[in-house]
Amino acid sequence: MTTRKVTIKQSDVIESIYSALQYISYYHSPDFIKAMKSAYEKETNNAAKNAIAQILINSKMCAFGKRPLCQDTGIVNVFMEVGMDVHWDASISLEDMINEGVSKAYTHPDNPLRASVVSDPLFSRKNTKDNTPAVIHTKLVPGNKLDIIVAAKGCGSENKAKFTVLNPGDDIIEWILKTIPSMGAGWCPPGILGIGVGGTPEKAMQMAKYSLMEPIDIDNLREKDCLSNIESLRLDLYNKINALGIGAQGLGGLTTVLDVKIQDYPTHAASQPVAMIPNCAATRHVHITLDGSGVGILPEVDFDLYPNIEMDYSRYKRVDLNSITKDQMSSWNIGDTLLLSGTIITGRDAAHKRLKQMIDGGEGLPDGVDFNNKFIYYVGPVDAVGDEVIGPAGPTTATRMDKFSEMMFENTGILGMIGKAERGDSTSQTIRKYKATYLIAVGGAAYLISKSIKKAKKIAFKDMGMEAIYEFEVEDMPVTVAVDTEGKNIHSIFKNIPVIN
Ligand code: SF4
Repeated sequence: MTTRKVTIKQSDVIESIYSALQYISYYHSPDFIKAMKSAYEKETNNAAKNAIAQILINSKMCAFGKRPLCQDTGIVNVFMEVGMDVHWDASISLEDMINEGVSKAYTHPDNPLRASVVSDPLFSRKNTKDNTPAVIHTKLVPGNKLDIIVAAKGCGSENKAKFTVLNPGDDIIEWILKTIPSMGAGWCPPGILGIGVGGTPEKAMQMAKYSLMEPIDIDNLREKDCLSNIESLRLDLYNKINALGIGAQGLGGLTTVLDVKIQDYPTHAASQPVAMIPNCAATRHVHITLDGSGVGILPEVDFDLYPNIEMDYSRYKRVDLNSITKDQMSSWNIGDTLLLSGTIITGRDAAHKRLKQMIDGGEGLPDGVDFNNKFIYYVGPVDAVGDEVIGPAGPTTATRMDKFSEMMFENTGILGMIGKAERGDSTSQTIRKYKATYLIAVGGAAYLISKSIKKAKKIAFKDMGMEAIYEFEVEDMPVTVAVDTEGKNIHSIFKNIPVIN
């Protein structure tokens, strides 16, 4: 069958990618909002329910405020199906068009997105400043359209990607249930689990990622009379993973995954590659089609879908960080919810590395940086716009900073840390040794959290973009005690989860 030849303009591709990335930076898809709302309604664990509430409130604030759902605005993933009858009115390659759209989206003056991509990953790790290049997958198909799925994947979830090659007779369920707890909470559950089975190693990884682009529809499977083998496996995994009790942000609870997606492909008789990639509280993707008539049309947003949930601060304890003492901190127990007010200092991966180099080299701390008796907040915020003090500023995964904990306590006088996800055993012991505390904020509630930051000043490493050190004045910033001064760890669930077959 032949189809009408159409011509797609370079400017339409660029504009479509730009608009799609701006759109997904602040709109969750309807299926995601519905699934998260249903998880909220059925949750019985207070800490997990509170975390889901923050994610939903944040989602609504971002939709109305047109500001990013998370401070990690992701690395751009693009899946394209290019019709073989498409003609081009273009002077650059299709990949260059995509990257122009990415650059335009991430440097938008009214809603700048965080530039997180670095080139030369093994050595200088230099920020490319506009989040280019995207990771692009292209398939040629019959027809005269250009189908594009645009996704922005945060690295808390990307970093938890898993891969194995099982023997053909091995039990995939056993491997998945054993592996999920090892992913910890850094992927900001609840989210969606994408699984790719078969093909070759790289094909399995690509399928796992691509499966995450499908809408959440696990509830439909329950209503079907006859399920395919893959559908039965999805439902089985969904039930068994949620029965592990990891819950929102790893705080325990009923919902760890909102859906499980599986794609498969023929494979070698001697092999069974299996890849698994989660999508997080900031699940962001949209599908657009270009048919030569102009830019791709984005879905209309139904603002009535957003639930009316308000934060219940009645169980929170107010804490003045400017006068807090270790004695007072020793009365906090894991699970206690606090509203922090006062001064905190920020710092994340590259800042810790540079601080260590300066301390090891005898230079001491940078001028103007005083951590003494302060909490350090692991965050790389989005730049402010308009009258904002700071853009979305949620926590990054604290586990990556574990290796710096002893160095920070010994040399800087910090009282504790604020981040997201679990700490390792040795860091919990270090926290105990220094009678310190580790507090968690909700990953995926970045815009909500940013509203509790009343003043923000870059005080060091200004050349390092999102890795710069800030001084924040916060008021009523909501956090939960995750490691107390005795080294007790709220995330110890990750050590005790039984393998269910
Ligand atoms: S929700 Fe969590 S994993 Fe997702 S982008 Fe934000 S910080 Fe990263």
